Amino acid sequence: MKTMSIENIETLNDIIDNINIGVTVLDEHNHVVFWNQFMAKHSGINAADLIGKNLFDVFTYLPKPWMELKLKSVRLIKNYSFVSWTQKPFLFRFGHSSMMKGESIEFMHQDCTFIPIKNISTGETYVCITIHDMTDVVISQMKLTEINDINKTLEQMTNHDNLTSLYNRLYVEKQIDFEFNKAKRYGNVFSVIFFDIDKFKIINDTHGHLAGDQVLINVADTIKRQLRTSDIIGRYGGEEFFILLPETNLESASTLSQRLRMAIEKMSTNYQGFDIKITISLGVVQFRPDIKNYLQMIHEADIALYHSKQNGRNAVTRYKITGCELMNCPIPKPE
Ligand code: GH3
Ligand code: MG
Ligand code: MG
Repeated sequence: MKTMSIENIETLNDIIDNINIGVTVLDEHNHVVFWNQFMAKHSGINAADLIGKNLFDVFTYLPKPWMELKLKSVRLIKNYSFVSWTQKPFLFRFGHSSMMKGESIEFMHQDCTFIPIKNISTGETYVCITIHDMTDVVISQMKLTEINDINKTLEQMTNHDNLTSLYNRLYVEKQIDFEFNKAKRYGNVFSVIFFDIDKFKIINDTHGHLAGDQVLINVADTIKRQLRTSDIIGRYGGEEFFILLPETNLESASTLSQRLRMAIEKMSTNYQGFDIKITISLGVVQFRPDIKNYLQMIHEADIALYHSKQNGRNAVTRYKITGCELMNCPIPKPE
């Protein structure tokens, strides 16, 4: 590495004093031999009062063991060493004059470089430390993180249902619409399941609304566990839910529906010492080219669901152009 002579530094004093970067030079005993205006302005200590003194005697808050090791290794290896504010926010406790307001940063954040310098007359290796004020960058990054967090919260609020954290009706409808148009154009297959909790009103009437809420949350979690990551489940409203199953035909969607029905049948929600049991009724439909739009598809799934309700509940019905088809569910319970 090419080293700079100490004499050259002397001739550059004026320039170095006027740049917006802190520059200090330490001899082999860590005594200050150079201290530019930036350092003087921000520390409140003039070069004349500091030259010849040990840096660590004056700035007692500096991380002495760490810095001594750093200085030693720079002198030994005779190569640059860089310390980013991301590793160590700052070395010197300087105030900052960032124009960016509203942030709670107390001290100037700094990028520091340790540069070995050969003193030609004594043969000693000095170390020049440069301090770059990174506070504006830090504040910009903090603001960006804040904006990202706000956007994430907004996205969560816009697309999700508050109670169950599932997607909301608007979001799932948009996804079904998208999948519908894709299927119309490229002919790929997909299915939709619509389901509704059976006799849910009784749960609320018997155990209270909060118990009902707990059941809704439990249903959401139980169903979610049975789905693939590409499936999209949403709360349609009240105690009704719908699921978009991309690349899934009626056969597979029906099999999944049966699995969901049984998972809910097995599920139990403990609320204030009571084990609350429920069942669901489901309707399944597969995309067909004759369906006009996604709303018709949801409507057909709803018709199938109604068919399950009419046929004893706790059942799966598939919608077919030839008529609704109840699947082999357990013996329908009487109304
Ligand atoms: P069915 O088998 O025919 O679907 O009967 P049901 O009792 O489930 O249907 P109904 O439409 O008569 O009642 C739905 C109930 O769901 C009534 C309503 O108070 C309740 N409900 C809707 N949304 C919520 C909610 O967010 N929390 C709670 N706890 N209950 C809800
Ligand atoms: Mg219901
Ligand atoms: Mg309902």
